[in-house]
Amino acid sequence: MNQYDVIVVGAGNGGLVAAALTAQAGYRTLLLEKHNIPGGCATSFVRGRFEFEPSLHELCSEGSREDQDSATKLFQSLGVNVPLLYEDTLFRVIVKGEDGYDVTLKAGMEPFLDSMEEAVPGCRESVKAFFDLIDPIDDAMNTMGDGVPNPVNLLRKHSDFIRIAGHSTEEVMRALNIPQKAQDLINTYWGYLGVPTDDLNALHYLSMTTAYIKGRPSMPYHRSHELSLALVKALQDNGGTVYYNREVTRFLYDGQDAVCGVIAGGEAFWAKKVISNVIPNNVFNRSDNRHISKRSRKLANARKLGMTFVTIYLGLDCSMEELGVNDYSVFIARDRNPRKQFDTRDKFGLYIVNCLNKALPDATPKGTCTLFFTIPIMPGDLPADLSPETYKAYKNDMAEKFIRDYEETMGISVMPHIEEISVATPVTFARYLSTPRGAIYGYANERWDNIIARSVTEAMDYDTPNLYFCGGHYIRGDGYPSGYMTGEMAAKAVIRDLKEGK
Ligand SMILES: Cc1cc2nc3c(=O)[nH]c(=O)nc-3n(C[C@H](O)[C@H](O)[C@H](O)COP(=O)(O)OP(=O)(O)OC[C@H]3O[C@@H](n4cnc5c(N)ncnc54)[C@H](O)[C@@H]3O)c2cc1C
Repeated sequence: MNQYDVIVVGAGNGGLVAAALTAQAGYRTLLLEKHNIPGGCATSFVRGRFEFEPSLHELCSEGSREDQDSATKLFQSLGVNVPLLYEDTLFRVIVKGEDGYDVTLKAGMEPFLDSMEEAVPGCRESVKAFFDLIDPIDDAMNTMGDGVPNPVNLLRKHSDFIRIAGHSTEEVMRALNIPQKAQDLINTYWGYLGVPTDDLNALHYLSMTTAYIKGRPSMPYHRSHELSLALVKALQDNGGTVYYNREVTRFLYDGQDAVCGVIAGGEAFWAKKVISNVIPNNVFNRSDNRHISKRSRKLANARKLGMTFVTIYLGLDCSMEELGVNDYSVFIARDRNPRKQFDTRDKFGLYIVNCLNKALPDATPKGTCTLFFTIPIMPGDLPADLSPETYKAYKNDMAEKFIRDYEETMGISVMPHIEEISVATPVTFARYLSTPRGAIYGYANERWDNIIARSVTEAMDYDTPNLYFCGGHYIRGDGYPSGYMTGEMAAKAVIRDLKEGK
């Protein structure tokens, strides 16, 4: 009875899409999730009279171009129809200090360019030239989506792509003579990818920012939990099965070192193909090492874990208007430069505060609102002497420091209005998601290990027969759309291989 065509391990964004698609294609599919609810990061939690969004600041659901495959199209193909609310502003950024600024950038390409020109007169043309690069990039990426392309054809037909592919975001911006202040403004979003823009691949950053600017930041009405539930329904409507409270503790292999099943909740489940929404490190640690190639083990060890967060969720006993908050998304920094923001992350380098009520006025009971603080940190940044005894004090200290700084920056009073407070740290994310050191973004998108390098070496890097991966740790990097799209990639590969009898 425990024999399936496909087992998917983990019901995060990637796992949910992968399972729904293989079930839709007619394959007997089982999704195993260690928690009692689906979603991973894409969930919600309740404290008192507030339902909090734990992760999603902004969904860039649209492709950067209308004809491009996108999360929206993917959802439609699965019959998932979750209405999204759209924000008109991209973000407000406040840089403190002598050469600081307070700028609000608009969403939509023309309004965005207008707001950039207003903030940095004379920058419009160079900024536009930067974002115009997205079309040749999309063309090349679409070609790559059909398999590893012929390098000569790439050079001939996609020379802009080749020119940009090896460069950081800041190198490309400098080449286009974008004024420094305009660069710094655009680069504010680095905090969402966890790598400062002097190291962050230009193609990656361009794709993400263009999608936010053109498609506009969006969010579902009932928190990201609504998206996850809709995907579970798509799986079940297509005959698939989901078991909750089933942590996979072992991956099983046959005599040819091919994955053939898993153990979850003490029970064995068998399948022709296994898709892991779980990071390779954890899969290998739950496998007999004899079956994992030397290359795979070396790669997992060589990779640096990406960014994580401390997050503070506040339920307040007054409305956002009474509080004096006008923005959905505010980035607060001490320095204009992303590298300095990253290097001083222990001293308020950069943090983000979102007020969901701006986008979704009735997100909380009448006369109340929520604030969501996001503080980027790296795995390993936690105090070396942190212990179960000092953990609570650490959380209280972080919350107090950042709430005070926000109060001072915005000139408003938050503390007296706190009705509910919850603080998450890498410890929380490690426990909830089971990721090493609470990394929420999988592996860091470094120069040698970025989206382009990963795409080119994908077949060599993921070499365990019958085992496929999807999620924030996979080749496209972190984020909701990446999770969904890699789920689709894994499902397509499994369906192809099952059809070909591989
Ligand atoms: C605070 C925060 C803010 C964020 N903000 C944004 C944002 O604004 N926009 C955006 O696009 N992205 C954002 N992200 C990133 C985004 O949430 C993630 O990149 C994405 O959700 C990861 O999806 P995933 O497919 O990798 O699955 P994950 O969310 O990592 O889920 C993995 C699932 O696998 C399960 N699992 C783990 N081990 C096992 C096991 N052994 N057996 C069974 N099940 C297991 C886990 O319980 C979990 O359900 C944010 C993340 C966080 C934490």
